[in-house]
Amino acid sequence: MQQEQYVCLVCGFNMVGHYPERCPFCGAKREHFLTAEECSRRFTVRETEVRSGVSCLRSEPALGLEHSAYRIHTGKREIWVDCPSSFNEQLRPATCITFTHHHFMGASNMYRDHFGATVQIHELDYRNNRQMVEPFNLGTTFQENFILDDVVEAHHIGGHTPGFTIYIFEDVLFACDYIFADAEPVKFNPFGPQAETKAGGYRMRDLLEGRKIATVCGQNYVEDYSTWRPKLDQLLGS
Ligand SMILES: [Zn+2]
Ligand SMILES: [Zn+2]
Repeated sequence: MQQEQYVCLVCGFNMVGHYPERCPFCGAKREHFLTAEECSRRFTVRETEVRSGVSCLRSEPALGLEHSAYRIHTGKREIWVDCPSSFNEQLRPATCITFTHHHFMGASNMYRDHFGATVQIHELDYRNNRQMVEPFNLGTTFQENFILDDVVEAHHIGGHTPGFTIYIFEDVLFACDYIFADAEPVKFNPFGPQAETKAGGYRMRDLLEGRKIATVCGQNYVEDYSTWRPKLDQLLGS
């Protein structure tokens, strides 16, 4: 039997196994929650191609502050970077859901059960946010940088959250909400320790050095690297 699960319409956070007074992520009250079943009835997940082998997954209509998730077809498997808030059983199966950080866990537990996918997050985001992350029963954490299917690189940079991990697939960078690139003025994610976030920005820039990146996939944007990169440089003060 499926367990109790609620979705916060303000931020998209899924609350697994209980019905809290307030959303543990954004603090919204119960009146803003839907059951996960109702959420699946009212929202679908739209998949939009970013470029060959990469697509964006977002709830439709827009679901609060939900951050975009992305699908990477590696030729061997279907990897999702992050996970949509609403559950849609029609989606092409994922074999692995790997997180940038713990802020938008989406309906990952439901997709895991439905697809038989592995779901994983950096150990530090698990350990430091056990109350929020544990109900998703991920099963797997990672502590080292790694490469999936020889083509999806995971690099731990920390900063915005202690376990924050960015991903690179061919010429596409997946940076989630590290930078609010569409904000005016552009800024590092303000919801986290600012000095550490900037330090992580330097680490990100170091590992992008000399690489051919064409596209950046963020929390609510897909942007050409040629316009995104100057924003990172500006934030780092050079
Ligand atoms: Zn919320
Ligand atoms: Zn975040």
